[in-house]
Amino acid sequence: MVKELDINDTECIACGKKETDGVNLVKYKDICICEECINNLYNYLYDEEDFASMMDSLLEEDTIEFNKKTLPTPKQIKERLDEVVIGQEKPKIILSVAVYNHFKRIAMESSDKNKNDKNLKDVQIEKSNVLMLGPTGTGKTLIAKTLAEILDVPFAIADATTLTEAGYVGQDVENVVYKLYVASNRDVKKCERGIIYIDEIDKIRKRESATHDVRGESVQQALLKIIEGKETEFPEIGGPIRNDSKLVTVNTKNILFIVGGSFVGIENIIKNRTSSSSIGFAGDLETEENKSDEYKKIMSKIVPTDIISYGMIPEFIGRIPVITVLDPLSEDDLVSILTKPKNALVKQYMKILQFNDVELKFTKDAVREIARESYTLNTGARGLKSIVERTMLNVMYTIPSLTNVQKVIINGETIKQKKEPELVLKTQTN
Ligand code: ADP
Repeated sequence: MVKELDINDTECIACGKKETDGVNLVKYKDICICEECINNLYNYLYDEEDFASMMDSLLEEDTIEFNKKTLPTPKQIKERLDEVVIGQEKPKIILSVAVYNHFKRIAMESSDKNKNDKNLKDVQIEKSNVLMLGPTGTGKTLIAKTLAEILDVPFAIADATTLTEAGYVGQDVENVVYKLYVASNRDVKKCERGIIYIDEIDKIRKRESATHDVRGESVQQALLKIIEGKETEFPEIGGPIRNDSKLVTVNTKNILFIVGGSFVGIENIIKNRTSSSSIGFAGDLETEENKSDEYKKIMSKIVPTDIISYGMIPEFIGRIPVITVLDPLSEDDLVSILTKPKNALVKQYMKILQFNDVELKFTKDAVREIARESYTLNTGARGLKSIVERTMLNVMYTIPSLTNVQKVIINGETIKQKKEPELVLKTQTN
């Protein structure tokens, strides 16, 4: 990605070297660049035309974060998500496209690519904010966070339940943007290109029956303004605005908002709408697998009006045009989550013990047993960590002070019987 530029005509804009460092600086338009970086860029960009267009984009007054070369394609974004997120094929594709379009829109706005095409000149591409629905612990936060990492943009998480409209006890919605500002190292420009994930969005629904519950609607209204894009002001140091506060202004127009929630019970709304004859779950849905299949089937029929019936105001849903549903995780998914992703839990613990020169082995049975136990907790992948932590606690406590342990083995029985892991001592094997 293109670096934030601090134009200084005495040093190379790319590597920062000065002539006193022994490099030849070339002046191009308003910037200086050293010959070495010109060669590197040229090799990277293959031909002169591309090189010139990249230099032009570097010189845009409002620095473009991405251009055709630097913005990863939806396919590349999805491949990177695959390294971290197990399953959730459709949401991963939908989000890869939405995020790609979002940053393409910003890049196009700045470079005004269609200036010569009369038909397209005035076409405004709308922001593609995204709503992720799905049971808890299925990867909503993980996907949003990973997208920000892939795009290398600042990222902040906010919890909708803590928000209030201005003047009420709780956090003002501006605080959501403040968090992103902090995550951007207090750089307004970077902040204005970031991603904000708002969790538990379903908890600010308005409820028809509860007359006291007007709060949900007004918080939605307040959030709506920030999501659609406005100049937002907050004190440099956060908290409420005081008379002597130094204010920071951030325009949220180009901030991508991803909102998520479990929307417990929305399946009944969809069911009522799609087939009035079968209200409620059928009696044959005894097993967790059957329940999960039925949930997926019903959720695949979701339309925006279902979300409005659930209690989100139409204007809010209107500003979040992309809706995607995450699947409940199966026991097999949990097995994969434990072992496959780049930062899989099992790999993390192996690395921790590697520091003490101790090998850690989770047998296949152990992994299956952890997944099975976690599956029954109904908290998606969240249960995995607590089970692994419980199992590893004593080992993590004692291993750093032992010098004669070569290997730690965790098998099915360790998990099932809540036994201590087996320690293989160096003298036993040497
Ligand atoms: P939520 O859907 O409630 O936002 P999170 O994304 O916070 O869930 O996931 C909770 C934990 O489970 C995280 O540690 C995350 O890494 C792991 N996890 C959840 N879903 C997946 C998945 N599909 N693939 C890999 N890890 C996952």
